[in-house]
Amino acid sequence: MPPIKIGLVGLGKIARDQHLPALGNNPDFELVAVASRNASLEGVADFASLEAMLDGAPELDAVALCTPPTVRHAQARLVLARGKHVLLEKPPGATLSEVEDLTRQAEVAGRTLFATWHSRHAPGVAPAREWLAAREIQRVEIQWKEDVRVWHPGQEWLWEPGGMGVFDPGINALSIVTGILPNAFFLREATLFVPENRQAPIAANLAFSDAAGAPIEAEFDFLQSGPQTWDIHVDTDAGRLTLSKGGSQLFIDGRLEHEAPEQEYPSLYTRFAELIGESRSEVDVAPLRHVADAFLLGRREVVEAFVET
Ligand code: NAP
Repeated sequence: MPPIKIGLVGLGKIARDQHLPALGNNPDFELVAVASRNASLEGVADFASLEAMLDGAPELDAVALCTPPTVRHAQARLVLARGKHVLLEKPPGATLSEVEDLTRQAEVAGRTLFATWHSRHAPGVAPAREWLAAREIQRVEIQWKEDVRVWHPGQEWLWEPGGMGVFDPGINALSIVTGILPNAFFLREATLFVPENRQAPIAANLAFSDAAGAPIEAEFDFLQSGPQTWDIHVDTDAGRLTLSKGGSQLFIDGRLEHEAPEQEYPSLYTRFAELIGESRSEVDVAPLRHVADAFLLGRREVVEAFVET
């Protein structure tokens, strides 16, 4: 099979940190074009807009959208209308309606739509799902706390409507939890802490419960200094499972059971090639739905202004 000719849109942090290396090491793909308004890549055809890339590189089979969520719907619709497969960075859109529409458009176009959740590809996630499948879930505690100044420098879009603020990383935790827990769960109450000079929360406390009544509590924080925390604890009838460091380490009752090098983006592109080969789409909106529920149900508390420097 010849490699899948792919174009990448939005040459920002995640495109450079993860997509370019993952594509460079995957013979199933050939990066032939990049569309970014303010950046270019040596040795690859570059365009100032997606429209220009689609006109200038008609040989493209697929496009990876690494732009912020608020612009992805229009971009993905255009790409599908031009008959290309689409990979969406997380979160797959700014609203659920947009993502539903894209699912329909992909069906109409007969192309693959892959709404990625990179954290689900962390090495501890699949073994955690397996271990939890036969267990009774008693309580879940999620701590997702990072320093926005370190991980998202200068990303003003995060603080705009649709940027989701602390839910931008928090949705990664929700993508893991919706991927490993055997039962559906529902938001019961939430508090969103919104800086007085911003539109999106800088911290959030969420209280869910599953259908059997087991509590699931989450704390998201964007102002964590010192050690960063991306941990999920699940208490069960057979002990406590902990996924630590964003899902890269799995502990049972404090014993390290599974650890492997992080391969989230290589795994995403392997999956994208499989889906294209099978003419299928993969779109799970469960994590985005929980975020939408938090914005629907959450109590807002205005907190002190956030200033980046
Ligand atoms: P970023 O550094 O701001 O990069 C996004 C790029 O998209 C920008 O460099 C910009 O490139 C382009 N862009 C920005 N606003 C645009 C607009 N209005 N219209 C068209 N293009 C626009 O952001 P990022 O951190 O890479 O995040 C992008 C997506 O990846 C987000 O959904 C995020 O959740 C996800 N993600 C990020 C990380 C992370 O650690 N940063 C991890 C996993 C997933 P030009 O100005 O050159 O067009």
